[in-house]
Amino acid sequence: MGVDPKLLEILVCPADRAELELIELPAAVCTRLVEKYREQFKDEEPEVSVGLKCTQCGQVYPVVSDIPVMLVDEALPAEEVSG
Ligand SMILES: [Zn+2]
Repeated sequence: MGVDPKLLEILVCPADRAELELIELPAAVCTRLVEKYREQFKDEEPEVSVGLKCTQCGQVYPVVSDIPVMLVDEALPAEEVSG
């Protein structure tokens, strides 16, 4: 799975407009996010394996089925994804 590199270049943290880096998410976090987003994906199982981490505030925005969810309300705190 992959996020469009051109999209990645223009995405910034919605909270502070800092750059983002692509990171792997721990399996437990992926499982929880799949459960969370399943109801929004009626015809397919959502895929979650990576997220976009803000280089400034550390919040992580999940990438669900290759779609970055750039919402502050849906962001994961840094502690949650650091293992
Ligand atoms: Zn940020």
